[in-house]
Amino acid sequence: MRIVMATSEAVPFAKTGGLADVCGALPIELARLGHDVSLFLPAYRSARQSGMPIEPTGIELPIPIGTKTVVGRLLKSHLPESNVPVYLVEQDQYYDRDALYREAGHDYIDNCERFVFFCRAVMESLRRLSAPVDILHVHDWQTGLIPALLKIEYRAVPPLEHAASVLTIHNLAYQGNFWHWDMTLTGLDWKYFNWQQMEFYGHLNLLKTGIVFADALSTVSPRYAEEIQGPEQGCGLEEVLRSRRDVLRGIINGVDYRQWNPETDPHIAMRYGPENVAEGKAVCKAALQGELSLPVEPRTPLLGLVGRLADQKGWDLLAPVMQDWATHHDVQWAVLGTGEPKYHELLEKLAERYPQRIAVRLGFSEALAHRIEAGADMFVMPSRYEPCGLNQLYSLKYGTVPVVRATGGLADTVTNLNEETLAADTATGFSFRDYSSLALSETLRRACDTYANQPEVWRQLIDRGMRQDWSWARSAKEYIELYRLALAQSKSNQIAEPTQEST
Ligand code: ADP
Repeated sequence: MRIVMATSEAVPFAKTGGLADVCGALPIELARLGHDVSLFLPAYRSARQSGMPIEPTGIELPIPIGTKTVVGRLLKSHLPESNVPVYLVEQDQYYDRDALYREAGHDYIDNCERFVFFCRAVMESLRRLSAPVDILHVHDWQTGLIPALLKIEYRAVPPLEHAASVLTIHNLAYQGNFWHWDMTLTGLDWKYFNWQQMEFYGHLNLLKTGIVFADALSTVSPRYAEEIQGPEQGCGLEEVLRSRRDVLRGIINGVDYRQWNPETDPHIAMRYGPENVAEGKAVCKAALQGELSLPVEPRTPLLGLVGRLADQKGWDLLAPVMQDWATHHDVQWAVLGTGEPKYHELLEKLAERYPQRIAVRLGFSEALAHRIEAGADMFVMPSRYEPCGLNQLYSLKYGTVPVVRATGGLADTVTNLNEETLAADTATGFSFRDYSSLALSETLRRACDTYANQPEVWRQLIDRGMRQDWSWARSAKEYIELYRLALAQSKSNQIAEPTQEST
């Protein structure tokens, strides 16, 4: 199959979260399975500074945006250690910035324009490159316009006449919702601005646009695919998603074990596998405690947390628990993250007040993230919702027992320790359902008790987790099935015109 991916993030060019990990790894796995894959990405400043070789293609892209024409250029690179081409859309006014989407807590004011431009630039590039395309796989709201452009403007344009589109939703809460006049930027007729297609409570909604026009849809775990069809997690789009449930799949993200494997990890104090995990983790734990200026205590449980400091990740539950535990329990916390200023302030205060128990690093550090995965005894993820989550999968591989809230991908990938799962030999961690500090605190206590008093059970948890395989090989095959579904759908799904009822 000839597969083109369009995304706003992919490692090592640009990353704010899990989307980048997926788009850096999935194309390589698809290529390994024998498919022809290429990737499109904006040429952000971070992409230019990634150290990857970038060359011009000579292709200029004059793109109509509202009443003006904005010119971009197409550059070319490749994914590391692969032949997968990466096409970078250069337009410095849009993409040569400090960040990808927002600075100092505020979205860039021209985000709609920046990504409408990117979507149109991808379509024009494909026309100019004229290599046949079977599947256009887009990700999240930033590329949500592409399925609409394919159906409305490009369905008879070579080489896209036979192409089908797939949209993967990595996080339904980010929808690309803009005021209605931004519809003019898209260049599409106002007749598509209706409640069944691009409009959402008076706004232009680019994620909804993708959901409506794509031939097939996926999200990043089966549980999340179910959850988003209900009012609690549907973010207002549950009805639209339910109407498309026949073509919606949940596919768990894979882990790139070339990057996340304690047997080969260049960032950690000692490399280890299931055979020497006790020694390896002891060395990595002592090194991490030293690095973070925590007392080097081998038996004090060390709890790791890495990620965006956002409400989604359960910081409102964690804050009181950390505060309470710092005075009552002999555990240490290692926190790495950036995000909302209120959590920066709070964590700084906690670290200042309890330097023996709480170590906080506010920033983005790939290397420290690896050292926390290797050095911590447990990894804590009490997410309010979690489409897939990657850190719990890294934790399993690193012998770091996950303590999670049973939601989305966390529910699909972590098996709670109880009598039944202990007997069946399937437990890999600890989980709870209620979104409350009490439930989190009780589960942490359960985990710490097991750590202190049942060393044999603890060893089993570690061993089972480390031997699981969450690599991309399985997930990539599921994407191929999804692409087949999209191709079959696209033949019967040509009509994009608004119905009487929707106008
Ligand atoms: P999300 O995509 O919702 O942010 P995921 O768990 O799916 O969460 O993926 C987050 C990815 O970003 C992981 O690879 C994680 O290690 C990484 N990450 C998040 N914050 C940081 C940080 N401050 N420093 C280093 N890596 C981080």
